[in-house]
Amino acid sequence: MIEQLPSHPVIVKADACLLRQAVANLLSNACRYTAAGGTVKLRLLIQGNQSLIQVEDSGIGIPPDALPHVFERFYRVDSKRSRASGGMGLGLAIAQQITQAHRGQISVTSTVGKGSVFQIVLPTSAALIE
Ligand code: ATP
Ligand code: MG
Repeated sequence: MIEQLPSHPVIVKADACLLRQAVANLLSNACRYTAAGGTVKLRLLIQGNQSLIQVEDSGIGIPPDALPHVFERFYRVDSKRSRASGGMGLGLAIAQQITQAHRGQISVTSTVGKGSVFQIVLPTSAALIE
């Protein structure tokens, strides 16, 4: 996994455990849906008064017709994936609930066979420089 983080700490008003859970769900998907030899990148960016957390993978990707549904509870893209990886279809619904509870947004872009980028945008209370 490659981490691309700012050189200074970024302070976000958030429940640390919940935020960790949301990011962990994205990272676990990125690893689960990317074959060995692929890459998973975790990025933290500041844009104005917002913090962007991005999880990018070079995995199997998500078809366009499935993209609007991946944040729904118990939604899984196809049964082949269910058998192969055995998830419940809850990780993204939980990540979305957590993000929205912090007045943030979660979104995804993806290309089948190339990979996916999940992004959490949170309002930053202060971008602290130490
Ligand atoms: P759970 O997270 O509950 O163990 P899950 O991973 O199947 O199970 P979600 O995390 O909610 O459930 O994801 C929903 C579906 O979206 C997945 O079943 C998978 O098909 C698709 N998906 C999610 N993340 C990715 C990704 N990074 N690459 C490709 N497909 C993904
Ligand atoms: Mg999952």
